[in-house]
Amino acid sequence: MLVDSHCHLNFPEFKEDRDQVIKRAEEQGVKAFLTINTRLDEAEEIQAIADQYPNVYCTVGAHPHDASDHVYKDVYDDLIRLAQHPKVVGIGETGLDYYYNNSPSLEQIESFKTHIRASIELRLPLIIHTRDADADTLACLREFPKAKGVFHCFSGGIDLAKAALDLGFYVSFSGIITFKKADELREVAKFAPMDRVLVETDSPFLAPIPHRGERNEPAYTRITAMKLSEIKGVSLEEIATQTTHNFYRLFDRCKVG
Ligand SMILES: [Zn+2]
Ligand SMILES: [Zn+2]
Repeated sequence: MLVDSHCHLNFPEFKEDRDQVIKRAEEQGVKAFLTINTRLDEAEEIQAIADQYPNVYCTVGAHPHDASDHVYKDVYDDLIRLAQHPKVVGIGETGLDYYYNNSPSLEQIESFKTHIRASIELRLPLIIHTRDADADTLACLREFPKAKGVFHCFSGGIDLAKAALDLGFYVSFSGIITFKKADELREVAKFAPMDRVLVETDSPFLAPIPHRGERNEPAYTRITAMKLSEIKGVSLEEIATQTTHNFYRLFDRCKVG
């Protein structure tokens, strides 16, 4: 069994055929899904999707791209309130993205810290998105020793991976590990301990080879898991068992199986 630890099932790309998308994934052995919130005004829509399928869980959080819309006075209270839904198992995605800088960095930092505080209060893991912001991401996390979670769609270097692992975080690999130019990332994947890795699609984005450029979907978790098994020199079965185990250990509010 595999788990897609990060997908966006509410995005318009899945509006027409979400049932088929989930069915195709199940046929590929992907038996659970974590659909990730990127804007708080979509949280209830995502919770409704999670309610529809027993094996779909969800999160509450605002993407760093949208941080500017999420630095209002009551955002902490909104996170706490929206996380009361029984299918919510994590807080995010949150973090810092200085590559796109769609929101000013100070607002991204403020939003990120609010999410970290809420995750600690709720005892839920964080789903962290970080790009070109290694130092600030680590500095924010180091202010909160109780923070736990995952660096999703890991695309950083070995130093960031080591720092994340030292802080007790997990690292999640996406279809990027199949890309031709991703040798450095494959080194990171090789290095990361088996008991701290997850797999994800980040669908509808970032389809792995041979689907690059097409719509990504949770079924392709299997392609990333296969690549990870090749990189680590273990069987697909072992990757599936271990990453699934890791997922349920981290997202301990999910019901196993
Ligand atoms: Zn992300
Ligand atoms: Zn995402």
